[in-house]
Amino acid sequence: MSGNGQWLDRINPTVRAIKPSGIRRFFDLASEMRGVISLGVGEPDFVTPWRVREAAIYGLEQGYTMYTANSGLPALRQELARYMAGSFGVSYHPDGEIVVTVGVSEALDLALRALVTPGDEVLVPEPSYVSYLPCIELAGGKPVPLSTGMSNGFRLTADQVEKAVTPRTKLLILCYPNNPTGAVLSRRELQAIAEVCAARDLLVIADEIYIQLSYTQEPVCFASLPGMRDRTVVLQGFSKAFAMTGWRVGYAAGNGDLIGAMTKIHQYTMLCAPITGQMAALEALRSARDEMREMVRQFNYRRHLVMDAFKTIGLPCFNPGGAFYAFPDITPTGLSSEDFTERLLREEKVAVVPGNAFGDSGEGFVRCSYAASVENLTEAFKRIGRFVQRYRKYNKKLNWAGN
Ligand code: PLP
Repeated sequence: MSGNGQWLDRINPTVRAIKPSGIRRFFDLASEMRGVISLGVGEPDFVTPWRVREAAIYGLEQGYTMYTANSGLPALRQELARYMAGSFGVSYHPDGEIVVTVGVSEALDLALRALVTPGDEVLVPEPSYVSYLPCIELAGGKPVPLSTGMSNGFRLTADQVEKAVTPRTKLLILCYPNNPTGAVLSRRELQAIAEVCAARDLLVIADEIYIQLSYTQEPVCFASLPGMRDRTVVLQGFSKAFAMTGWRVGYAAGNGDLIGAMTKIHQYTMLCAPITGQMAALEALRSARDEMREMVRQFNYRRHLVMDAFKTIGLPCFNPGGAFYAFPDITPTGLSSEDFTERLLREEKVAVVPGNAFGDSGEGFVRCSYAASVENLTEAFKRIGRFVQRYRKYNKKLNWAGN
């Protein structure tokens, strides 16, 4: 039930001004309909590997139902330090340089609240993950979108960063592999951005939640680049690669002063991440890495399937190098992102997300998650093909009449 408006003028104006997520609206619409195939949610269709679930169940059986240390179970932080050093070539001390959070969502909020002071500018490549702008604003900062486009593979360039820096710029958020475009940046491109960050004294929040889902190149942890370890707070998690969205575990690693500040906020607002989730995360690192790699292999297979489908349908689509999203250009249908999404849902019962939910530069695109079964993807693309053909014909007629 929604409110009656009585409280509205008492709500913090910053919160009042924030738009509800453009993704949620379509989820709500889709959840009221039957027979919908959802390519909307950014969530693996896999269930968490059995050994991970079993470890969590065993933990509960043994009575592990209490708070943990604020920064997370020591064993988990030690395992995380080993994992980051072994997989991404960057070393952190488990005591003081790593904090376990309630998903990357919380880690992002903590990093922003710990760093941003009123009026600070935060550079955000756009299209961007839906939480960045509201979280920056809630922290009192000013988001500065850096628009990227399909012609350049949705890549952020060092030049763009350089040109956007003002005396108020404090932070750059990086998210590669990217949600929603699936773009990745090469080591050379990241290195060039790193040089600008060093020269212009920028700090970096590297949201690397998709780092393991990198298909076309070796994953690069931004903090592993020369000079970046002490400028970067790395956010990684378990939701995507280990199929653990519901366990709510993520972590931040970085300079001890910053992690200390983030832990202070975490201590007063969250206390700790859920113990069962932390025990599951520990088991995931210890015994589910092969299964994780197998899931990544299957996402990659689906990536090819989806790219072939868009080619057949005739919608231009940038070939994503990572994550599990395709971001096709839907302008040949003559529809806006929102119209496309709403009509596709009502007429063909396929849920995707309008590109403009990720910022203005997402207009003319939609985001399709291919973290769905091959069976569902095949059926969904049959429906999308039918839909696009219908509108393309109609659009051609319109254009012809207009000429
Ligand atoms: N960052 C990005 C780029 C995401 O796509 C998501 C989830 O979709 C998150 C952070 C939040 O992840 P978590 O489930 O770890 O809170």
